[in-house]
Amino acid sequence: METIQTVSSMKKTVAEWKSEGLSVGLVPTMGFLHEGHMSLIRQAVSDNDRVVVSVFVNPMQFGENEDFGRYPRDLDRDSAMCAKEGADVIFSPPASEMYPSGFCGYVDLAAMTDGLCGAKRPGHFRGVCTVVMKLLNIAGPDRAYFGQKDAQQLAVVKRMAEDFNMDVEIVGMPIVREADGLAMSSRNSYLSGEERAAALSINRALAEAAKLCGGGCRDVRHIKNRIKAVLSGEPLLRVDYIEVAGMDTMLPLDMLDGRALCAVAVYAGKTRLIDNVVLEA
Ligand code: AMP
Repeated sequence: METIQTVSSMKKTVAEWKSEGLSVGLVPTMGFLHEGHMSLIRQAVSDNDRVVVSVFVNPMQFGENEDFGRYPRDLDRDSAMCAKEGADVIFSPPASEMYPSGFCGYVDLAAMTDGLCGAKRPGHFRGVCTVVMKLLNIAGPDRAYFGQKDAQQLAVVKRMAEDFNMDVEIVGMPIVREADGLAMSSRNSYLSGEERAAALSINRALAEAAKLCGGGCRDVRHIKNRIKAVLSGEPLLRVDYIEVAGMDTMLPLDMLDGRALCAVAVYAGKTRLIDNVVLEA
C-alpha cells in the first residue's frame, strides 16, 4: 500500500493517472478505520479506476476542549485494511503540510452550519469545509465519498461543491451499524462496557422517532420529546441536542412535510456520539 505524505507527490500521482485517462475516487477519513469507512472505500473501488483514502486528523475541525490529542490513530492497521479492499494510495500528510506557516484561508458555509453540530461545535464546519476543499483540490477526484452518519457534514459538503462549481460528484453512503444497532464510529473505542450498553438507546430512540413518523405523527416537538424520554432512561447518557431539520437546508423544522433529518448528539460519559435517521413524512 503506497502512502503519500506530501501535497506535491499526491498531485503528481493523480496527474499521472489522469494522463492515462483513469477515473479517481477520494474517501476522506480521520483514520482508525472501521466497517463504516470500508463501505465507502468499497463503493469508491467499484466506481473508479483509482482510489485515494486520506487519513488526516484535521486539527482545524476540533474545538479547544475536544479530543484532538487523544483521537485514536493506527496508520499500519488502516493501511492493511485499505490494501485489502483494493484502494491504491493512502494520503496522510502531517499537519504542517496541510497548514504551513502563513496559512490563513478558510471556507465557511454560513446558515447551513448554524444548527445541529454547528451550533454545538463552533468553528467545526469551517474546519471541515476548509480541509475537504483542500483535499478535493489536491486529489482532484471525479467522485468523493461521505457517510450519512455525519449527515450535516454530507449536506454541507454537497452544498459547497455546488456553490463553488466544483467538478466532483459527492456520493453519500448509508450508516453502517454494529449488529446491536450502535452506529460505527472511531470514537466508540473510548466507551467503557457500561457506556456502550447505554449508547444502544440512541438507535432505539431514533427508531421510535421513525415509528412515530410512520404512524402519521407530524409534530416535531412530540417526536423530540419521545426521543428525550427514551434517552433519559439511561443515567450514563447526556443529551447534547435533539433536532429535526430539512434534509438539504439543515434548518430546524416544526412540522414534518416530506423528508427530514432527525439527528442527535449524546454524551456517553465523556464521549460525544452522533447518530441520525431520515424521516419520510
Ligand atoms: P471520520 O473518519 O469519522 O471523519 O469519517 C470519515 C468518513 O466516514 C465520513 O464521511 C463519515 O461520515 C464516514 N463514516 C464514519 N462512520 C460511518 C458509519 N458508521 N457509516 C457510514 N459512514 C461512516
